[in-house]
Amino acid sequence: MTATTCHPLILVRLGEITLKGLNRGRFISRLIGNMKRRLTDLGAFEIEQSHSRIWVRGAGDTSLKDETLMWEAIDRLSRVFGIVSVSPALELEADYEALKQILVDYAQDILRGAEKRTFKIEARRVDKTFPLSSYELCCELGAALLERWPDQLTVRMNEPDLTFFVEVRDCIYLYHNIVEGAKGLPVGMSGRGMLLLSGGIDSPVAGYLMASRGMIIDAIYFHTFPYTGPQALAKVEKLAALLARYAGRINLYVVNFTDIQLELNEFCPQDMLTVVMRRVMTRIASRLAQKTGAKALITGESLGQVASQTLEALVTTDAVADRPVFRPLVGMDKNDTIEIARRIGTFETSILPYDDCCTVFVSRHPKTHPSLEDASRAERDLNMDGIVRVAMERISRKEIDPHTAAGV
Ligand code: ATP
Ligand code: MG
Repeated sequence: MTATTCHPLILVRLGEITLKGLNRGRFISRLIGNMKRRLTDLGAFEIEQSHSRIWVRGAGDTSLKDETLMWEAIDRLSRVFGIVSVSPALELEADYEALKQILVDYAQDILRGAEKRTFKIEARRVDKTFPLSSYELCCELGAALLERWPDQLTVRMNEPDLTFFVEVRDCIYLYHNIVEGAKGLPVGMSGRGMLLLSGGIDSPVAGYLMASRGMIIDAIYFHTFPYTGPQALAKVEKLAALLARYAGRINLYVVNFTDIQLELNEFCPQDMLTVVMRRVMTRIASRLAQKTGAKALITGESLGQVASQTLEALVTTDAVADRPVFRPLVGMDKNDTIEIARRIGTFETSILPYDDCCTVFVSRHPKTHPSLEDASRAERDLNMDGIVRVAMERISRKEIDPHTAAGV
């Protein structure tokens, strides 16, 4: 490197992952694999781990000097579970004079057009052979910036407008932006779950929360065409694509549910219709989970939110599941769920007004505290094995990629 060359790269910080002791290696290689997949259509990247950091560099023709590419990559990586934060950074040789020069150029870009700014330098010398200590670096570099912009810059230690971070390792890393990451554990570390995905607000958030604990998400949607139109399906596909920006690629299974709904409507007591429908969905989802290897079902249910989510109603659905049903929203307030939905970008799509099957075939006076006996009695006139078998024959699968979101 000559005195003023430096290379842009992305610095990725890990959190909980670093606590995983002996499993650490597995966690990190899973995380790096997930990062690679998320960046793959943007170009060629070299991803390297050292200490508690991961470094992403452009490879071949791919250069992170391209700011649009840099920010797209940062945006994607900030949604990869297992990452605590991400910074666009410059890498330069471990030479003080070069550092001073590059810091001034770097600050020039940031300060251009800005009025007065407060700032501080936060320097960390990991390589103790470097001649200046962390404290000396802060003082010297701060003085260099003040000398260059005496009227525009002032030092402030507490909450300055700008913090320049300088890390001295075998190279020097310089950055000032820290973008918050999705945290959690890398998807793939905690097995596979089958998410019952409707077009509502809750189920995408439930899928997001389980993926944040490292689960691979498969999704199943019960479609009641033409009672719920093609737009309802497109909406669910869009939600799956939005979720896939965090969870990675999702297999979306769509069940043609119309005949089943009509059959339930005809042969079940009206006040038990919703409970029976949820039990049918649970049975079909369990059967599909057997095939895909999903070890748990996931729903967006929250205790007491609606008639079908009372404790008794949840007990009746659990009774027909052949594996655990995870309900990460069970104890959550709706407003908090909405806040997450807004933050992860699913809310606006979820509130589009296309009907879900549950709103089309709704019991007017649902039984709110059904017993298991009530549920079995309500299913007496149904050929449940036949229903599940036919549903399984009518399932279609679509791979939902994070970057091919269907428009609604
Ligand atoms: P959501 O906002 O997720 O639609 P909700 O509060 O509207 O939830 P319900 O309609 O009672 O509640 O559904 C409860 C849960 O059942 C949903 O969170 C979802 O997991 C599942 N579910 C409901 N309808 C469907 C469907 N058509 N396909 C797949 N899963 C569904
Ligand atoms: Mg719903």
